[in-house]
Amino acid sequence: MEFSVAVIPGDGIGPEIIREAKKVLDKAGKVYGHRFHYTELLMGGASIDVHGVPLTEETLATAKKSDAVLLGAVGGNVGVSNWYSLPPELRPEAGLLKIRKGLELFANLRPALLFEDLKKACPLKEEIIGEGFDMIVVRELTGGLYFGERKTVVENGLRKAYDTLTYDEEEIRRIARAGFETARKRRKKLCSVDKANVIDSSRLWRQVVKEVGKDYPDVELSDMLVDNCAMQLVKDPGQFDVILTENMFGDILSDEASMITGSIGMLPSASLGKTKLGLYEPSHGSAPDIAGQNKANPMATILSAAMMLRYSFDLEEEALKIEEAVRKVLSKGYRTVDIMSPGNVLVGTDKMGDLIAEEVK
Ligand code: NAD
Repeated sequence: MEFSVAVIPGDGIGPEIIREAKKVLDKAGKVYGHRFHYTELLMGGASIDVHGVPLTEETLATAKKSDAVLLGAVGGNVGVSNWYSLPPELRPEAGLLKIRKGLELFANLRPALLFEDLKKACPLKEEIIGEGFDMIVVRELTGGLYFGERKTVVENGLRKAYDTLTYDEEEIRRIARAGFETARKRRKKLCSVDKANVIDSSRLWRQVVKEVGKDYPDVELSDMLVDNCAMQLVKDPGQFDVILTENMFGDILSDEASMITGSIGMLPSASLGKTKLGLYEPSHGSAPDIAGQNKANPMATILSAAMMLRYSFDLEEEALKIEEAVRKVLSKGYRTVDIMSPGNVLVGTDKMGDLIAEEVK
């Protein structure tokens, strides 16, 4: 089969990790008889440097016409890069919000899986890790605080800033469905996380999730307050299967979940909407501190490419093959510096890509 993939390397380590993901995809294509046609696009700082904006309308239009979008990361060194002297709507990260909104990607799936061979890299004590954990955060991506009206004003000589958190029931319903559907394909446990003891949007969230839950009697639904969830993630991560939550809570909790897997360099993500067109990117940022040094872990991006095969192209076997290849390379002891432990073999970004591609056979 043939697929068109809009590829956005972005900034910092973006081009390095995208190169490795393409290497692995092409190998999978060769083994299984598929062709991936890449169109390289600019976004973030790379686009600001050329076009003065983080995402042009033409780039968005090209992305919309593709079968899927594969993204590295955007952004630079805050405080050092000139990009941050621009107004917020022209900074690199504004491109991310615009493409997510433009492609109507309202569901962000972030798996947090502790690989058996990386237990040593997990910062939690062995008795807490137990059998390990394998959860997924389903985060609402196009509503809530990050998209609400915001302003900074001066009142009575004092600066005052406000942001608004709004959800309507349809926005909650569609992400709740995505959460239940995800749980249905896994261990059938959905924990909806909110702050219903304080904020109205969370009270509506909880009601609507319960209503949607009636259509999924096979999925066990529970609620948890976000502060408790932050605590439970480090106290007993094995209790979670699917965490369903709104935009900002999901942003924070998925980073926390990612950290306890050992390295943010391991975690993929998929952003999905109503159609098959999805955007796939690692959960981490552009890591300007290690950019251009061949040190970045490409696994999160390679695993994101596997998610692309699964969710946008329905190539489950090929996706599993890539995930298995990552597992095999880890079990042979190869590590990038972020997950290195004594006794392992240190490799750079490009070598790690080669090793994973070799295992796809
Ligand atoms: P970051 O995720 O880029 O880096 C945090 C730490 O993790 C750094 O020490 C970095 O070296 C390390 N790290 C990240 N990815 C790694 C990998 N693949 N391999 C090895 N180590 C890795 O977060 P940050 O430093 O807070 O942000 C840097 C820039 O990235 C900022 O401009 C931020 O806005 C942007 N950002 C972009 C995205 C995105 O594009 N989706 C997401 C988060 C942050």
